[in-house]
Amino acid sequence: MKPGRFTYHAPRGLDEALALLTEYGDESKILAGGQSLMPLLNFRLAQIEHVVDINRIGAEFSAIDAGETIRIPALVRQRQAERSAELAEAVPLLRQALHQVAHPQIRNRGTLCGSLAHADPAAELPTVMSVLDTTFTLASARGLRTVEVTDFFQFHLTTALEPDELLLEVSIRRPPPGTVTVFHEFATRRGDFALAAIAAAVRFDGNRVTGCRIAAAGVAPTPHRLTAVEALVTGSSLEPAVLADAESAARQSVEPTGDIHAGADYRRRLTGVLVKRALADARSKQETANA
Ligand SMILES: Cc1cc2nc3c(=O)[nH]c(=O)nc-3n(C[C@H](O)[C@H](O)[C@H](O)COP(=O)(O)OP(=O)(O)OC[C@H]3O[C@@H](n4cnc5c(N)ncnc54)[C@H](O)[C@@H]3O)c2cc1C
Repeated sequence: MKPGRFTYHAPRGLDEALALLTEYGDESKILAGGQSLMPLLNFRLAQIEHVVDINRIGAEFSAIDAGETIRIPALVRQRQAERSAELAEAVPLLRQALHQVAHPQIRNRGTLCGSLAHADPAAELPTVMSVLDTTFTLASARGLRTVEVTDFFQFHLTTALEPDELLLEVSIRRPPPGTVTVFHEFATRRGDFALAAIAAAVRFDGNRVTGCRIAAAGVAPTPHRLTAVEALVTGSSLEPAVLADAESAARQSVEPTGDIHAGADYRRRLTGVLVKRALADARSKQETANA
């Protein structure tokens, strides 16, 4: 299908882009990789008057900075991040998850910030950011503001972004030494959105868990932190009995809805299985690191 009529804007700088967002507000949408926006427009699931293409706002918005804090600006493509050796060393969880986002052709265009701004609750990247120490920098003609990940995702396809704001960059604090990260998902076909997915960052001292962040995708209107599981595994060595308890706690912590792809009960059970698998994987990675 073809989209409805819209006016296309291609600002040459950030200030110009922000001025357009101020002028057109709710009637405008940013175009980054277009991998979610264009299908929405083509299927006429959204009707937008003004499309603001940010691809020409400046080369500096395409550069990853993997310093003490990792900064990923608005135009960094998913494939670029997936291939970055610096990023793989600093936050391996990103590459682990990016491999499972759609297909390489889509990741060639799709941006990390676009996926986060789109906030699909089944998407990998919002869930990954939820287990890392992540801050979002939002820009508008009014200035900059920062929002912590816990406040950014608000509902299905809804974030803290105001209509005149652009997600300028996402910043991730390097996980502390001793942190093991894992990502597990189940999708009916490779490249499809996951029926459920689990991201975890587990901090170890020897074999003992001293901290854990674990979140699920696809089972709630936003990325869903499994705080009961986090509390349960902290202090343990992820023995088989703890893994069994974690599986059951995870199942009880989610209230997914069913759709044409999977029923609610199936998604609940899947969440439990994936949590157990992710934690067993974290334990085995830690054992290898200790050997
Ligand atoms: C066939 C197919 C399969 C897919 N499978 C998956 C999958 O398995 N997992 C997954 O996570 N994703 C999947 N996607 C989506 C893909 O990863 C998109 O690239 C991503 O969701 C959006 O990034 P984008 O840069 O293309 O954003 P766009 O499509 O350009 O924009 C998406 C939304 O975010 C807004 N936006 C974009 N950038 C900014 C910004 N900097 N500031 C504020 N708002 C902004 C736009 O206005 C729009 O509302 C799939 C897409 C397709 C077409």
